[in-house]
Amino acid sequence: LLARQERWESSARTYPRHLPIALAEGAGSFVRDVDGNVFIDFLAGAGVLSLGHNHPELVEVVARQLGSLTHGLDFPTPAKDAFAQAQLSMLAPRLRTRMKVHFCGPTGANAVEAAVKLCKIATGRGDVISFQGAFHGSTHATMALSGLVSQKAPVPNTMAGVHFFPYGTADDAALLERALLDSNGGIPLPAAVILELVQGEGGVIVAGTDFVRRVRALTRSLGIPLIVDEVQTGCGRTGTWFAFEQYGIEPDVIVASKALSGIGLPVAVILYDAALDTWAPGAHIGTFRGNQLAFAAGVEAIRIVRRDDLLGNVVRRGEQIADRLAGPAAAPWVRQVRGRGLMWGIELADPEDGRPATKVASEVQISALRHGLIVERGGRQDAVVRILPPLNVTAEVVDTACAILVEAVSACSP
Ligand code: PMP
Repeated sequence: LLARQERWESSARTYPRHLPIALAEGAGSFVRDVDGNVFIDFLAGAGVLSLGHNHPELVEVVARQLGSLTHGLDFPTPAKDAFAQAQLSMLAPRLRTRMKVHFCGPTGANAVEAAVKLCKIATGRGDVISFQGAFHGSTHATMALSGLVSQKAPVPNTMAGVHFFPYGTADDAALLERALLDSNGGIPLPAAVILELVQGEGGVIVAGTDFVRRVRALTRSLGIPLIVDEVQTGCGRTGTWFAFEQYGIEPDVIVASKALSGIGLPVAVILYDAALDTWAPGAHIGTFRGNQLAFAAGVEAIRIVRRDDLLGNVVRRGEQIADRLAGPAAAPWVRQVRGRGLMWGIELADPEDGRPATKVASEVQISALRHGLIVERGGRQDAVVRILPPLNVTAEVVDTACAILVEAVSACSP
């Protein structure tokens, strides 16, 4: 299957290049390949499968919905209404009363596009501020907003007017303040600042509290909408419904996608301040904005997260991971182990010159696979080994997975 896929999809290959397996079926935190090998899946569909593979209650709800209505364009339906209410129910009351929901085309990038477009229309301004290491998608605009130069450099004329600033610390916030408050700073007042609270693809970099609060205060004082990209951090991944809650800020636009349905059905939304709602009806359309299966699953996923206290589980399993990975954190080739909730990364770097140790990270990933654990990579030069376990992962599975990872790191560090 790998060879056959290579023949017809050679330009699109990404995961199988590093994880040479063909998938047959999944259940919970586990996935089986076509040869019958079973793996703990801590890639979880790139953070999409928040309740693991084929959660039986979600399967049942989707099957029921499948028998009544599957696609509804943007007509109102009971499933869509329940989904919108469920999304808003995750926000604190003060924010909830201000926010509207817009259903976007089904991917994270589609929703980021919508968020930026909304802010451009509302402010009448064209520039956007983003951060080094950011990832917002692979469309022309979202590619331009991302730090990944290797992806966008070969593509002429991606969206212009994006200004990048360093990410994450109070000093970085001070730089942004100086640039925007200085009348000679050279940065026109932007339409938006777009921010991940934890950079996922960027290598699991958790923004500092001071940084986020100062960016929020600055954008508010200058009337710049703040977009938080919670495509990866949302839906409970960091231990609260949205990661921004942990910073004590209120954003103007929230972007969510990946785990919204809990079971991998494509859906994306933006939640945005009604004050920005100046776009005309039909200003942002798209055929696939009415996936009733995703809506039905999404409502059920939120109910299950509440019923089973999965946000509590995220926090507890996150603490367990921090504890189990404390050993490798001290190893010479490990620069840092960091994360929040169930988003963790092990950054590998050459102890001599501090350069990203891409080859070592690749070996760790392959070694983990051989011992039954699927992990992701990211960060600068792909030198951060990353995990995104399902939110309902058990303590036992976390222990087994961490033991495999610890072994892989110690075996691969030269
Ligand atoms: N924003 C963030 C923060 C992401 O992590 C991703 C995907 N990794 C995207 C946007 C793009 O989402 P999609 O791949 O669904 O377009």
